[in-house]
Formats: sequence, C-alpha cells, structure tokens
Amino acid sequence: MTTTLAELSCPYCRARAFAPWYSGIEDRLKHAAGQYAFARCGQCGSALQVPIPKPEQLASFYPKNYGYVPPPPVASGIKGLLASLPHRLFYDPIYQSQMRQVLRGIGWRPDQQGLHLLDVGCGRGLRLLGFRERGFRITATDFAEEYLTTVREMGFNAFASDFEHLAEHVSPESVDVITAFHVFEHVPDLELAAKTSWQILRPGGWLVVIVPLADSIQAKYLKERWIGFTEAPRHLTVPSQAGMRQLLIRTGFRIERELPDALMSNAGMWALSLFPWLAFTHRKPSKLRQIITSGLGFLTTLAATPLTIVEHLFSKKPAAGMFFARKAG
Ligand SMILES: [Zn+2]
Repeated sequence: MTTTLAELSCPYCRARAFAPWYSGIEDRLKHAAGQYAFARCGQCGSALQVPIPKPEQLASFYPKNYGYVPPPPVASGIKGLLASLPHRLFYDPIYQSQMRQVLRGIGWRPDQQGLHLLDVGCGRGLRLLGFRERGFRITATDFAEEYLTTVREMGFNAFASDFEHLAEHVSPESVDVITAFHVFEHVPDLELAAKTSWQILRPGGWLVVIVPLADSIQAKYLKERWIGFTEAPRHLTVPSQAGMRQLLIRTGFRIERELPDALMSNAGMWALSLFPWLAFTHRKPSKLRQIITSGLGFLTTLAATPLTIVEHLFSKKPAAGMFFARKAG
C-alpha cells in the first residue's frame, strides 16, 4: 500500500498538508542516479523529499568524499599556494565566521574555559580548530567512520553515530554546546534528533543549528536548480524558518537568536546552484581542473556577494540560517 501525499505528516510542523512541489531533480554531484522530487508543506512551507527514501538506501547516496577535504600538504612554491587557495580564500574564512557567530550567539566569554562542545556532522573537523584554541573541550561525531580518521589525527575525540543515536555514546546533560551545521536536512528522524540533543545538553546548554531554508530568496528564484534541492537525494527535507522553529520549540527549546549562515557560504550557494559543475570536493579532478573550477567558483561567489548581503540584511530570507536554541537553565 502506498502512502499518499495527503497522509504524510510534516516532520517540522506536524501538519498533514503536503502538495507536490518540484520534481525531475538530479543529484548535483551526479553521484546518485535517478530523479528526485519534493513536496511542500502547506502549513509551514518546509520541503519533504518524496517518496521518502528507505533507511537502507541512505548510505549509498553519499560519495566517498563528501564535503570539503583539505589537500595534503605540498611543497611550497606556486603549486602549494594554488592548492591551498580554496582553503585560504573560501573554507577557512567560512569556518572562522561561523565560529565567531556561535561565540557571539551564545554569549561566550574568554574566561569560560573547558566548555564541552559536541559537533554533529563534523566532516573533517576543520571548523573545530578555532573552538579548541579558545579552550573548548570537543567531541566530534559523523555518521561514517571513514570521515573520522583525519579528525582523530588532529587530536579530537571522535565517534561514528547517527544523530538519532547520540545518547548511546554521550551521557545525559553532559554537553554545553551542540553544533549541527548543515545536518538536520540529512536526518531521517528529526523529532528523535532534536529530543536526543535536548537529553544530552546540560540545563542552559545550546543547540546551534545551520540549515538551508526552503523559504529563502534563493529557493524562491532558483526553484529546482537551487542547491538545497539539487542536494537530493541526500537532503531528505529542507525546512522553512517557521518549520525549523516549530521543531525546536516543540522539543522544549527556547529560540534565542536567528542569524544568516556565513555570508560567503550563502553566496557560494548561488554559485553552486547556477553552476553545479564548479563542485570539485566529491571527486579527484586533475590539478588544472581543480584550479580552474575553484577560481571560477570563487569569482562567482564574489559576484553573488552583494545580492547575498541584500538577502541577509533586508529580506531576512537567507539561503541558510543559524538557529540558537537553548535548553532552560
Ligand atoms: Zn510543515
């Protein structure tokens, strides 16, 4: 028996009000074959991939390299400089900016040493370096064991787990800050992921989430070309601002603050939506191709920056948003 759209309940707002939205979407990374579709919640405006992928399919949606992998250190000189440019010009500024936003958002002070930060979906762990420099005690987790090698090599305590099963690895009320950047949209059981976060946070602790937003300016104008959708089938859902708020509030969190994600990251979403072939992180391109695509990607991102500033400042509809949710102290 197949479930009809009208019978599906929204993982964000619980309404049963889905209608077809976009279809015929292909994976921007050309890793997962086939075409994908999203339905839109008539109540909160969040997107849900339909049909809902089966749990046993999920791992196959991810290429071996997913997300940014830093290049191995190479000899100095022009080659070394070129290889390091994506990191220096794009990824590192984004990580720094996200970290500063988190510190400001939670009202961190330098005398608060030893706060326990759990990063969910840590990837290669690069964004954690800045937190460690500021005296955070860090635990990192990602769903695939193979991502964790470099994280451990950098000296971080790391374990593999689904978001929904973190409580099997982390004691209740033992974490001060959970960061989950671009993670919720990949999670099959959002309700359980939010509840688990609540359980392992200390009273007064923070859940800081970054998610792409289905009611962003970019989603509105780019439609099925927007990276939030062409990340199907890995994006199982894409929340609206209202949808994300409702999930967090229903779990018991108070939302203290909402900010746009880092400017360059959101500008990069324009670039990768309009020119998906600019993506190079998931495969091993030739050196020349990598230099050309990362150069063009950087220029496109720069060109999109003024527009992205407008999205952030005036429309308050950023492509991805940062939510600061707090457990009552
Ligand atoms: Zn909804």
